[in-house]
Amino acid sequence: MVSIQKAIQLVDTYTTTSKKMTSSLLNALDSFLAENVYSPINMPPFHQSAMDGYAVLYDDKHLNNFILVDEIKAGDNNQKILKPGEAVRIFTGAPTPINANAVIMQEKTSVKENILEINDVLSPFKNIRLTGEQIQEKELALAKGSQLNPAAIGFLATLGITEVLVYKKPTIAIVVTGNELVVPGNLLEFGQIYESNAIMLQTALLKNRFADITISKVKDNYIDTKNSLEQAIDKNDFVLISGGISVGDYDFVGKALLELNTHQVFYKIKQKPGKPLFFGTNNNTTIFALPGNPASALTCFYIYIETALQKFIGNPKYQKQTIQLKLEEEYIKKGIRGEFLKAKTNGDSVKILSNQSSAMLNTFAEANALVYLEEGLETFSKNKPVTTYIID
Ligand code: AMP
Ligand code: MG
Repeated sequence: MVSIQKAIQLVDTYTTTSKKMTSSLLNALDSFLAENVYSPINMPPFHQSAMDGYAVLYDDKHLNNFILVDEIKAGDNNQKILKPGEAVRIFTGAPTPINANAVIMQEKTSVKENILEINDVLSPFKNIRLTGEQIQEKELALAKGSQLNPAAIGFLATLGITEVLVYKKPTIAIVVTGNELVVPGNLLEFGQIYESNAIMLQTALLKNRFADITISKVKDNYIDTKNSLEQAIDKNDFVLISGGISVGDYDFVGKALLELNTHQVFYKIKQKPGKPLFFGTNNNTTIFALPGNPASALTCFYIYIETALQKFIGNPKYQKQTIQLKLEEEYIKKGIRGEFLKAKTNGDSVKILSNQSSAMLNTFAEANALVYLEEGLETFSKNKPVTTYIID
């Protein structure tokens, strides 16, 4: 049995970062960059008009009237050179003449015949996006560890980049144990309950954008449990097991994992809920065996598993952040173990919800935070700051 702090530390120590892989930009959504990306080009690649209007070459002698000599629209390959006092009609995104020193928006001009009259103050490079203004060739575009959101992906595409080196996302198996479990949609017989951990864990993974998930279900029987776990370990980076890890005569997960030569990092944490959490590794697979009580399983997911998965995918901020919030109501902690309590916060203060049973999810469904109360007995008075994990 380890302390909560020790368990968090051991999960960190024994979780590795995944392999790097080359990915198309499209498939790299939400992944973390495994290398610095430098721009292959200047962006923009040429001086570009930022307006629909007129590009001019002005000097002290030519400030109001210009002779119109050409038209350049977006995409034109026209490397025009102007004489002082000349102007060209130009449109947004078009290359400005090589020596143009301002673009005047069309709303501030009037044209008679081929003479452009401007009603605007001229200043150097007004309304011109200069070559390399956003980023220059060989300059750092995105640093290693950046997460590729749509803006980042769009940015890389503007630089002409099609592939990036990212950390591979994990393959994950969920193995659910329990004779009493029935898939929702079927009728319950006496003694049975609906199986809810698989879909709960699957959706918790989907919220983290992990989609490569295989679910299998086994009865409380040693051989079946061992065979399922062997397959799951063989094929996945992570194996999450639900139930069968306590001390009951029909809990076979621990025995099967050890029989399969799993290295046990810890079994049991001084915490409530989720005391019987098992954590181990087997070759390159990371294994969490979760207590079957749904609220325990989800709490363990948020505190330990999410962190491990985020580290695996190269998230530099994988460690759970906590904030200190004032308790809205007094809370008397009855047990000696450290506790994670389902709670609701508005961002300023936090309220511990009633009904903390680890077998029930109704309170959890309302919660948007977990309050962490350290080991020991204590009365937590109203307004006392408590460590809070935001979960939603
Ligand atoms: P166990 O950890 O297998 O001893 O299960 C602890 C409690 O959680 C028991 O009341 C189980 O019926 C319940 N339970 C286990 N697995 C699930 C599951 N997948 N869905 C819903 N309840 C479960
Ligand atoms: Mg069970």
